[in-house]
Amino acid sequence: MRHKNWIRMISVMTVMALLVAMSPFHASAKKYDGDIDSVATGTDGMVSTSHPIASQVGADVLNKGGNAVDAAVAIQFALNVVEPMMSGIGGGGFMMVYDADEDDVTIVNSRERAPAGATPDMFLDENGNVIPFQERVRHGTSVGVPGTLLGLEEALDRWGSRHRQQLMTPAVQLAEKGFEVDKQLADAIAGNAEKLSLTPAADVFLPGGVPVGEGEVLVQEDLADTLKKIRSNGANAFYHGEIAEAIADTVQEFGGSMTTEDLANYQLTIDEPVVGNYKDYTIASMPPPSSGGTFLIQMLKILEDFDLGQYEVRSFEKYHLLSETMRLAYADRAAYAGDPEFIDVPVNGLLHPDYIEERRSLISLDSVMTDIEPGDPWAYEEGSADYEIDASGHDVDNNPGETTHFTVADRWGNVVSYTSTIEQIFGSGIMVDGYGIMLNNELTDFDAVPGGANEVQPNKRPLSSMTPTMILEDGKPVATLGSPGGPRIITAVLQVFLNIAEYEMDLEDAVKEPRIYNTHTTATWWEEGVPADVRAQMTDLGHRFESNPNLVGNVQALQINYDAGMYYGVADERRDGAAIGINRPSRGK
Ligand code: GLU
Repeated sequence: MRHKNWIRMISVMTVMALLVAMSPFHASAKKYDGDIDSVATGTDGMVSTSHPIASQVGADVLNKGGNAVDAAVAIQFALNVVEPMMSGIGGGGFMMVYDADEDDVTIVNSRERAPAGATPDMFLDENGNVIPFQERVRHGTSVGVPGTLLGLEEALDRWGSRHRQQLMTPAVQLAEKGFEVDKQLADAIAGNAEKLSLTPAADVFLPGGVPVGEGEVLVQEDLADTLKKIRSNGANAFYHGEIAEAIADTVQEFGGSMTTEDLANYQLTIDEPVVGNYKDYTIASMPPPSSGGTFLIQMLKILEDFDLGQYEVRSFEKYHLLSETMRLAYADRAAYAGDPEFIDVPVNGLLHPDYIEERRSLISLDSVMTDIEPGDPWAYEEGSADYEIDASGHDVDNNPGETTHFTVADRWGNVVSYTSTIEQIFGSGIMVDGYGIMLNNELTDFDAVPGGANEVQPNKRPLSSMTPTMILEDGKPVATLGSPGGPRIITAVLQVFLNIAEYEMDLEDAVKEPRIYNTHTTATWWEEGVPADVRAQMTDLGHRFESNPNLVGNVQALQINYDAGMYYGVADERRDGAAIGINRPSRGK
């Protein structure tokens, strides 16, 4: 039972503060009125999201006897309103669920799909050049057929114990009566004002041309009406009829090809996690079409024998080994990862012990690798690539968008780890006129250059990095991890896990510890706290660093100590999220 070692009790003060914070929340409140804490403990469950109002909506569901999936559904609808720039029914995501009765981890995969009219060269201009990212993002061709709503409905059908109408009501009220805009949203509106000004989103977020500011009340009437229609009639009201027509019309108006047929034809998948071991830990994470789980496990297996814990947590050795491992993994990611409905991803080869050893042997403490190439995982797995293997032509999105991750556990031991997204902040910036729905730009996660594993194809899902993860012991989750941050996600989850497994940090410290990120083509991103002398030493050896610090991900996480009967939650202080513990006597399911 390793987790007993690495869970350090959060201080009594924190627990006291938390109990005080359990004041009732009224969904009509314009402002979260409890104490906001980024760490929490609970005896009967846990919620951690990147927005306090959404966390409270989830905690209310648990307090009233709903289960973790009920709470996750209510949270996602609430986030659509209070974090409209991050996720919602105009996007997609991966909801990982541990069902305590079945003792099973399953993923509801609601990743957006390319419409039937999408083509491999749709992100090239008439001269065959790649259209710059900031232009691609705003175009209708970047909008994938959304899956989030169908995913929520599927999860409720499978696991829910509460009705959709009840779970959607807090979101409807927040949209209708408004809520107080926090710094995250105010900054997001101001920072994306130009993108928003080109679409009907301007009326909501830039009334009279002025960005809605921190502390102001944001009412979203059209969104409230849309949510009410969905509350009454379910996902059908979105994928068929007037809303579907409005979505298709809007996307076409912005130059995309999406039709009502594309919406009617959208299909989610139910996925099994990719599973790997690191020392005594078992990790269940997200399989393709995400690169998340596969490359999280690949990086961990490459690092395992280096025993990072022997080096200081902020040492040259640790960051150097992390950095080199990331560079190897991202070269493979660029060459071999994509939608498994369309291409063969050599997951077994990428994780084969002999292949891992081959890649690991390329790393030395005395030098920096140059010209990193993808390896040949197909040598360790039957089959072959039916796509061009070329890591250089396929750009890694290095744009600083990041969306949202949250996690919930209930008193019966059901657990949810859910990364949800509209891709960039405010997605494409395109709002469906009259319906208040922000549309994603997820299709920019495809390679702009055709030919590789992740080229655009009709109905295909773009490669993701989202990494909802559970750490299992005897098949049961003892922790969840996950983050937004595009390709940075995998490295954020990797480092938080290593802080626990190698450095025996508690969850709060593990999330706080500064992180780095790089790929086979990019300079190293670093967070404040990565020591200047270590960066200088690495630069001398040949590493390249970004000149300024940048945040790497935003990790919401929880731990469960079954022996102590305690839940621990952390919301990453890189944003102003909240963890809320549930502390009530059990009332039965
Ligand atoms: N589009 C990104 C991906 O699927 C997620 C965006 C984010 O959450 O940062 O990898």
